[in-house]
Amino acid sequence: MRRRTPLFAAAVVGMAVAMIPGQAVASSATTAAPVNASAAVGFVAPLRVNLGGHTLSPAGQAKLDAITAKLPADWQQRLARHRDAADIDSSTPDRIVANVIDPTQYQCQDTQFTEYANSLLDGISFDDLLILVFLDVLDYPTYDAIFFGKPGNTEDYGLTPEYKGAVTHTVKAAQKFWDVDLFDVQTMAMQNDMLTDHDRVAATMAILFGLDDATASEEADLIQEVLNDSPVLDGGRNPIFTLNAFAFSAEGETDPVFQGIPDKMVFGEGLGTALDHLGLGTTGAKGVIGHEMSHHVQFEDGLFDSPLAGAEATRRTELMADAFGTYFVAHKRGLAMNAVQLHQVEQAFYEVGDCQFSSAGHHGTPNQRLKASVWGAELARATPPPFPVMPSLQLDTKFEKKLPNLVKPDAKPATSAA
Ligand SMILES: [Zn+2]
Repeated sequence: MRRRTPLFAAAVVGMAVAMIPGQAVASSATTAAPVNASAAVGFVAPLRVNLGGHTLSPAGQAKLDAITAKLPADWQQRLARHRDAADIDSSTPDRIVANVIDPTQYQCQDTQFTEYANSLLDGISFDDLLILVFLDVLDYPTYDAIFFGKPGNTEDYGLTPEYKGAVTHTVKAAQKFWDVDLFDVQTMAMQNDMLTDHDRVAATMAILFGLDDATASEEADLIQEVLNDSPVLDGGRNPIFTLNAFAFSAEGETDPVFQGIPDKMVFGEGLGTALDHLGLGTTGAKGVIGHEMSHHVQFEDGLFDSPLAGAEATRRTELMADAFGTYFVAHKRGLAMNAVQLHQVEQAFYEVGDCQFSSAGHHGTPNQRLKASVWGAELARATPPPFPVMPSLQLDTKFEKKLPNLVKPDAKPATSAA
């Protein structure tokens, strides 16, 4: 049931999905629809786009109706099912109910990363954004990579020259480092031009909605019209669509569209752009890959299972991936990073923290992600010669003991007026 684990909780926020008049509501109200998460374990929590209060204008509604007219009647249920299977969505009722984190106990704040992500949609028409959200277009590059991505197809799934060396080197080092078999993990990129390719959009929609080729082609035309509508979307090249990284495993998957797909580690071109913007570049990217490969360790070790649910469950596995990933990049037998590099990696985890306490996509606050990362680094650096690598299950035992400390309330007491 765990397919995609993204780097961060990309959340389209405030989107009470209840909004399509006359249509069954597929996924009950959620505030956070991870843009890039599934049993694909992403690096960042889903992007939060505040749609609170916005509804479609009559013209926007007409546009949406024209697009959905040719979709099967149960298109929302189909999307919800795939999202759930791919762990892209966080909105299933049982997850919502398990909403036990008290936000007032935590210090939480936007980071430069959050601000950068928000700035990418400055000036967009809310009609266009809502249509893209309803039809899950923000996740098409993710689905495309899951369904069709092949490491050998570098034209469509190749990493940019800037990140290629860092990413591939880090994957190989992680495969050697961990005591589980990660050699079957395929490495690839989500590129910013995916949505500009009519045939790829059509192929993705054909699978998601169960469309024949002719209908999928017409639908892709309509989606591309929307993408060309708002200049800020740049025809789909806006980095927002690939602003994440994720680990994917189809292990135990019951949704037929995902069965048999190999394990993947996907790095988004937009995330690379964001890391550049933050001055974290390839060192930050190595931390990201360390995190995603740690999700593959979790897949292999069965570490996603816990008594926790909802936001608490995701927070645990994400902080674990931050800790394991930093342990790996800091360890002499991993990437053996120096103090300056480690500081950048720790900063990267801080940046992608989120305050989506009520979302099952919650990855941990910036402070918590930083603490988890620092803990992993310190553990690695305290390893005496000959620098043995701790078995992953033993590292997990240590982490589970540390977890209550990582998530302990850190809000400053409210200052009384005086
Ligand atoms: Zn993750």
